[in-house]
Amino acid sequence: MSLHEESIKKLYANLNLKSHVLAVILKAHEKVLEYGLSEGKEMAIAIDTITGEVVAKKKSKSSDSVKLDFPPNYKRNKGLVLVHNHPKNSPFSYEDLFSFGKIKFVKSSSVQCHSGVAYNISKGNRNIAIYEETELKLLFVNITRGAKYKNLSFIERVEEFNKIIANKMGWSFEKGGGVNG
Ligand SMILES: [Zn+2]
Repeated sequence: MSLHEESIKKLYANLNLKSHVLAVILKAHEKVLEYGLSEGKEMAIAIDTITGEVVAKKKSKSSDSVKLDFPPNYKRNKGLVLVHNHPKNSPFSYEDLFSFGKIKFVKSSSVQCHSGVAYNISKGNRNIAIYEETELKLLFVNITRGAKYKNLSFIERVEEFNKIIANKMGWSFEKGGGVNG
C-alpha cells in the first residue's frame, strides 16, 4: 500500500515544518502502517519538529494501545510530532487525547489508519487546560453510545468526539491521507 504523500503533508500545514522534517514524518506514517499491516499491532514514532530527529520509537504487543518512553533529554526539543497506527481505523481514542493534552512538548499527533486515512491534532500556540481522563472517557461513551449520533458509524462517532474535544481545547483537527491507485 502506498500512502498519498501530499495529503499526509497537508495534515501538518499549520505547523510550518521544514521539508526534511516533513519527509521524516511521512516515513513514520509508512513505517507504522507497514508494521501494523504485517503484525496487526500498534507502533509509535516521535519526531523532533525542528531537527527531524526520531527521538523515540516503540513497537507495541497490543492492537489497541502503544506507550512511548521519551528520552530524558526530551526537554531540549522544541516540540515533538507523534505518529502511531490504528489497526481498527478509528480516530483518536480518549486515552490518545488525554496524553496529548497532558504532555506539553507533544505539539502534534497523528493516527495512521490501516485503511490509509490519517487524522491529526495540533496544539498551535494555545495554552491549554486538560480534562481529567475519567471526564474524557465519559464524554467518549456519551458520544459513541448516545442517541444523538445513532445514525453515524462507530468511526464517524469517534470523529465527532475528536472534533468536539479539539474544539474545546483550541486544537486543530484534520482528516486526510488516503492511498494511491
Ligand atoms: Zn491510539
